[in-house]
Amino acid sequence: MRKYLMAGNWKMNLVPSEAKKFAQDLVKSIDKVDDDVVIMIAPTFTALSAVSEVVKGSLIKLGAQNMNENESGAYTGEISADMLLDSGVEYVILGHSERRNIYKESDELINKKVKVALNKGLKPVLCVGELLEEREAGKTNDVVKSQVVKGLQDVTAAEMGKVVIAYEPVWAIGTGKVATPETAEEVHAMIRSTLESLYGKDIAENTTIQYGGSVKDSNVDGLMNMTNIDGALVGGASLKVDSFTRIAQFQK
Ligand code: PEP
Repeated sequence: MRKYLMAGNWKMNLVPSEAKKFAQDLVKSIDKVDDDVVIMIAPTFTALSAVSEVVKGSLIKLGAQNMNENESGAYTGEISADMLLDSGVEYVILGHSERRNIYKESDELINKKVKVALNKGLKPVLCVGELLEEREAGKTNDVVKSQVVKGLQDVTAAEMGKVVIAYEPVWAIGTGKVATPETAEEVHAMIRSTLESLYGKDIAENTTIQYGGSVKDSNVDGLMNMTNIDGALVGGASLKVDSFTRIAQFQK
């Protein structure tokens, strides 16, 4: 049975002491979730260890926001998969639009990261999504399909059980412009049929495909009730305990 993954991407917010306090509040607040729902938070690298101690044994899993594609070595300023694992991380967000657009990460680089994450036993959250001009030019499906195919190149069927896809239309991230449930659902269905053509029906049906882009407590229920939307990757609204709790406990 596929699960909903309700994830908070804290981006470059909360110093470790703030992150620790916030995580403590969140653990108290999210005291129950349905069996088919997984909750994850992704603090900054420097807050991972402190937050890991707080969420241990709770309903909340730990994620990271990025990772280097090499195992170790002379890569000044970078963080490896082993470093994340040693900090208690289970999920790693890869190919977020801010990484693609600000730091010019290519599909090829993101694919290397996905494969290293899987080899090391991390669960990659592969982010895909079109720019506003691509949507306006009618290229959404081509862009997103290509990001999915390239991001998953050489990922085996056996490894797909650990992969999460996050569809995040770039025009909806941090803008307050959420995609309507129907608009998002169309792209999610296309992603699932792309997965089916790559890996077959069973794997496609069991893969979690999150939506991200201005998800809030006020719009989460409509999105989560669409057939092919299995969770949310949340930026801004994950930085408020009440909002993120309501998002995690969405109504089916
Ligand atoms: C994100 O950071 O992935 C995101 C979707 O941000 P927001 O919820 O703020 O739009």
